[in-house]
Amino acid sequence: MARYGIYPGSFDPLTNGHLAIIQRGLKLFDRLVVAVANNPQKKPLFTAEERKGLIAEAVGNDPRVEVDQFDGLLVDYVRRRGIHTVLRGLRAVSDFEYEFQLANMNRKLLPDLESVFVMTGEDYFFVTAQLVREVATFGGDVSGLVPPNVAAGLVRKLGGRKP
Ligand code: ADP
Repeated sequence: MARYGIYPGSFDPLTNGHLAIIQRGLKLFDRLVVAVANNPQKKPLFTAEERKGLIAEAVGNDPRVEVDQFDGLLVDYVRRRGIHTVLRGLRAVSDFEYEFQLANMNRKLLPDLESVFVMTGEDYFFVTAQLVREVATFGGDVSGLVPPNVAAGLVRKLGGRKP
């Protein structure tokens, strides 16, 4: 029986840190659903549809990866999909507290749900989507931190916003 995992996040935008987690996740799961959280209240830079497209392009056509989006609670989405394991990444100690709260809240809402965590290597531990957005907004070079299609997407999106 194929083992399914779900990797949820904002992915606004996808970074090489996220990609590293996806690659590691594929060592644990046969199939991975990368699920873009659609939360317009967060005022994302890229729409959920755009974020989904960038991820699909960056992972190529790996048949083991499915890219989807969801609204509302993650537990409702995983229940609908019949998936029981959530994959998350840990960068540093600073991620731990939030991830610990989230994992416990999710388990409270859906006792069957297990969260597993993998850590990125030293290459990407400092990469956050928020920092990438900020650096790109001010015209900084983010190639090397994001896949090439995301770097191009950032230029398209922020082209007119450089100081
Ligand atoms: P971010 O925290 O960068 O805004 P998300 O909210 O989309 O991104 O994060 C989804 C998951 O990926 C979270 O578990 C987050 O800790 C993890 N993650 C994001 N960037 C990295 C990275 N560079 N290394 C390891 N995990 C990461």
